[in-house]
Amino acid sequence: MTAKILIASFLASAAAFAAPPPPGPDLSPPSNANQSVFRLQGFDTTQVAPDLYTFRWEGTRNMFWVTPDGVIATDPISINAAKALRDEIRKVTDKPVQYVVYSHNHWDHILGGKIFKDEGATFVSHNNCVKHFTMYPHPDLVMPDVTFEGNHEIKLGGKTLELIYLGPNHSDCLVVMRPKPHPVLFIVDLATPEGVPLGRLNDYYLIPYINSLRAIEAMEGIETMIPGHRMPTAPIATLGERRAYLEALMAAVKKELEAGTPAAEILNKISLPDFAHMRNYETQLKENARRVITYYGMGW
Ligand SMILES: [Zn+2]
Repeated sequence: MTAKILIASFLASAAAFAAPPPPGPDLSPPSNANQSVFRLQGFDTTQVAPDLYTFRWEGTRNMFWVTPDGVIATDPISINAAKALRDEIRKVTDKPVQYVVYSHNHWDHILGGKIFKDEGATFVSHNNCVKHFTMYPHPDLVMPDVTFEGNHEIKLGGKTLELIYLGPNHSDCLVVMRPKPHPVLFIVDLATPEGVPLGRLNDYYLIPYINSLRAIEAMEGIETMIPGHRMPTAPIATLGERRAYLEALMAAVKKELEAGTPAAEILNKISLPDFAHMRNYETQLKENARRVITYYGMGW
C-alpha cells in the first residue's frame, strides 16, 4: 500500500468519526409529575407545639413555624402539595410565609415553592445544594435566595430556627432544623422511624452518615423528631435504632469479607435478627448489604 492510499484511508475514517451524533431526546424532568413512591394518599396537618406544625402530603412531610412576623416554612414538596400547604397555613395564621427552607436537594421534598416565591418568601438552602440544582435543573424548583456554609440561623418574630449542617450524610447539603427552644428536630431522610433504609442507600455517604446520626444522638435537649416521611413525630431515640442497624450491618459484612466469603454468598448469609422487627427488613436487607459490600470494595 502506498503512503498516499494510507493517508487517504486515514482521512476517510477520521471523517466518519467526526460526524456528530444525532440530536437526542429532551431528558429534562417533567413539571408536576407527582409520581409518589408512597402508598399513603391525601394530606393533613398535625400540631406539634402551640406554634409548630407538620404538614404531610402523601408519604412526605415538612414542618412550619408560626411567628408574630410571619411563617417559616420548609420543604414545599411539589406544586400540588405547596398549594395545599398554603391553605393549611392560612387556617392557623393570616401572616405570610417569609421563609422557605430546603432540607436538602432531593426533588421529592423541595419542588413547587413558586406559590410562596410569588408572595415574597425568601428561599434558603445550604450552599452545597446549588451545584446539584445547577447540574440537574428542574422546572418546578425555586432557586435559593440565601445560601450558607456550616450552620445558619433564621430569626423571625423573636424566634430562631437553627439550621445544623453535619457534613455529608444523605447527599452533601442536608441540614437538620431546630425550632428553638422546642426540644424538636426536623430530620429529613436520615432516619424514617422504625424502618431500615431503602434499596442500596443511594446518595448516602455511609461512614459520615453514621457519624451524623451519632452527633444528633449526642445533642442535648432534643426529645422528639419530625421525620421527612410517614408519622408526624417520633422519639429522638428512634435514630439510635437506625444507627445501630447500620453499624451491625457493616460489621457483619466486614466480618464475612475478612473471612473470604464471596460477595454473592454474603448476601445469602447475612442476617440481623435483632433488627428483624424493623419495617422493610425482609425486603431491603440484601439490597442494603450490597451497598455495604460496594463501600468496602470501592470506597463509595
Ligand atoms: Zn433525600
